[in-house]
Amino acid sequence: MRVAVIGAGVVGVTTAYFLAQNGHQVSVIEQRGNVSEEASLGHAGLLGAAHLTPFAAPGMPKQILSHFFKTDGAINLRPSVNVTHWRWLRSWLRECSLEGLLANKEKMQRLGRYSQQLLSELSHSHNLDFQQRSGILQLFRNVKEQKKIIAGLALLSDADLPFQQLDTAACHQLEPALNKDTSLAGGLYLPQDGNGNCVLFTKQLKLVAQQLGVEFEFLTKCEQIIPNKNGATLHLKKAEQTGQQQFDAVVLASGASSTPFLKNIGINLRIAQFQSYSNTANIKNLDDSPRLSIIDESEQIAITRMDKRIRIAGTLHLGKRKNTADERAWQKLRNVGTDWFPDAANYHTGQNWSGHHLMLSDSTPVLGRSAVKNIFVNCAHAEYGWAMATGSGKILADLISGKSPEIDLDGLTVLR
Ligand SMILES: Cc1cc2nc3c(=O)[nH]c(=O)nc-3n(C[C@H](O)[C@H](O)[C@H](O)COP(=O)(O)OP(=O)(O)OC[C@H]3O[C@@H](n4cnc5c(N)ncnc54)[C@H](O)[C@@H]3O)c2cc1C
Repeated sequence: MRVAVIGAGVVGVTTAYFLAQNGHQVSVIEQRGNVSEEASLGHAGLLGAAHLTPFAAPGMPKQILSHFFKTDGAINLRPSVNVTHWRWLRSWLRECSLEGLLANKEKMQRLGRYSQQLLSELSHSHNLDFQQRSGILQLFRNVKEQKKIIAGLALLSDADLPFQQLDTAACHQLEPALNKDTSLAGGLYLPQDGNGNCVLFTKQLKLVAQQLGVEFEFLTKCEQIIPNKNGATLHLKKAEQTGQQQFDAVVLASGASSTPFLKNIGINLRIAQFQSYSNTANIKNLDDSPRLSIIDESEQIAITRMDKRIRIAGTLHLGKRKNTADERAWQKLRNVGTDWFPDAANYHTGQNWSGHHLMLSDSTPVLGRSAVKNIFVNCAHAEYGWAMATGSGKILADLISGKSPEIDLDGLTVLR
């Protein structure tokens, strides 16, 4: 089949790779000049299944409310007049029960484990090298935060995902560079999770995909998808030139820009756009830098190593924010970096970045067939698109090739 994948972020490139492996003729349509130039560019790089946690959880509404009147830039869910935001918030509140948390975490871990296994196979078979590091240490600044994770630990055991609950001293022993002056109640060590450089991975996989025959059409924007009985016609624009191309099937992997396309193909799930931020600074003292990937659970901010750089990423703003909000978010990241690793880098000279992603109220992506024949979706991976990309890509390729996906898709499709 002739298949178009719209979007060359990590999700689009992995989908194209698996489609080509199944013998399809694949074109990736990308408006930017290369792969991974949008949300896949500057994120924290966290990988694995055990740390995947839905944004909706008991206690979260209270935590969010406390941020309503703060201007520290950490979490900002203040809805605008936008009716989509209000609908998303209402639906998100319904997911904030214990049952919701456990059900959504199970779905995320199902896809995360599958992705982890495929990523390992892919890296091995193509000798991919993308600065992988093992081990995530989740930190809790107080006992109240620490207690919140207890409900999810049984799911980790059920899924055979190893973990270790640590007291303060054990956290410092495992991660000696952690600042002893910052209050810490304890941690959770996830040895099978870790992080990696998503841009390096995507660029390497692009080369492998090209060797399999995948064509990348860069600087080309898909303006419209017109379904027809033989598939769909794409209206494309490249350097002021417009044209049309017919495909047998189309995969939407267009990240945060997917909303108008999703509406046109009748997908009416509660999806909202979010903005998150990162700061990447060169390491100045290796001995004072993290060895593991750190997640400050109380602040919902990650600190990861990218070879000789440190990346601090997180903060969550509903919709698009004004520049002043951006500045506060980056300041928050620098503060958290300084809290835990004060001498590792000059964070104020680091590179500021922000990216957009789509999140459903249950935090799980939308995968598979849409209501329109031959149009498929692979979107809304929220804050975990890199950790879920390989599984999502393989599932899409299997469905398009008429094969049964290797994992249960219950709760991950358009029907939920
Ligand atoms: C600060 C931050 C931290 C994060 N941390 C992590 C993390 O630690 N681990 C993790 O797994 N995830 C993380 N994420 C989430 C992750 O970045 C995303 O889920 C993931 O990159 C989404 O990949 P994607 O390919 O769907 O989207 P993108 O990378 O945004 O790719 C979509 C592509 O589609 C193209 N496109 C869109 N519309 C069109 C069109 N009409 N025509 C042509 N091209 C089009 C865009 O140009 C873009 O290149 C984080 C995100 C942020 C912002």
